[in-house]
Amino acid sequence: MQPLTQATALIAALIALAHAAERGRPRVGPGPVPAHALGASAAPASSALASACPEGTLPDQGVCIPVPQGAAGGAELTAAENAHRDRSGAWRFYEQIPRRPERPGDYRRYRWPVPPLPGQNLVVSGYDLDRPDVQQRRGAHIKAVGHGGLDLGQRRGAEVRLVNLEHQTADAEVLFVGEVFGNSVVTRHSVREGDRLREYVIVYGHLEGAAPGLSRGMNVREGALLGFVGDSGSPGDVHLHFEVRRVRDGINVASLAPGELTKNARTVACDPRNVMPLAAE
Ligand SMILES: [Zn+2]
Repeated sequence: MQPLTQATALIAALIALAHAAERGRPRVGPGPVPAHALGASAAPASSALASACPEGTLPDQGVCIPVPQGAAGGAELTAAENAHRDRSGAWRFYEQIPRRPERPGDYRRYRWPVPPLPGQNLVVSGYDLDRPDVQQRRGAHIKAVGHGGLDLGQRRGAEVRLVNLEHQTADAEVLFVGEVFGNSVVTRHSVREGDRLREYVIVYGHLEGAAPGLSRGMNVREGALLGFVGDSGSPGDVHLHFEVRRVRDGINVASLAPGELTKNARTVACDPRNVMPLAAE
């Protein structure tokens, strides 16, 4: 083989290996409880996959494509394992992407799809999938234990507008309009992360309704109207549920049923503070 052909074959083999490793990672069924879930020190982070593409290129659909000069990406985010007890008392294991330590903890430091409501807490209920079981959200009227998104307080009918993620590489796209968490809109974002392109989906839930004319496949720019705050699927509790999830390697989100979009085997919940832009000081 020519040296170039050899290198290409090696890269292809490495990518295939990486994908195989990734597919083997989703965890199902019972097993030892991560120390973190029990309130001890943080669980060891899952190993990041090394990129097989040469410097100056990024893997995209199994091919190494050149990166435009001067394009900076964000750090690769590392998923960690955690667990909580569901309402029946059984342990549920999952992966999630905790907030990176250098990202500010204060939610008010970021830009969100709805502005803060004067005199009220911006975040009614925060991201807690990185916390020990006993510190995760549960309550008599809440169906699920734990919270993989943010509940942003706003009045009924307030506009929900798109905010581009940090290091996003193109316009976002409307992936779904319909029932996920009540009336919902789901957007799809491509993000440069470490030396790779990663895909994220964002769920805007409990809407009064989606923006008129919004439909699957539309490109949406910064500031685009997505919908209106409401309480569909959460009667009497008007707020925006905002959930950021990283798509697992090898998953084509466009082919997933709406109910699959938020399944841990398909997408991994991410603390939104990792990817949302900081507000101007
Ligand atoms: Zn919520």
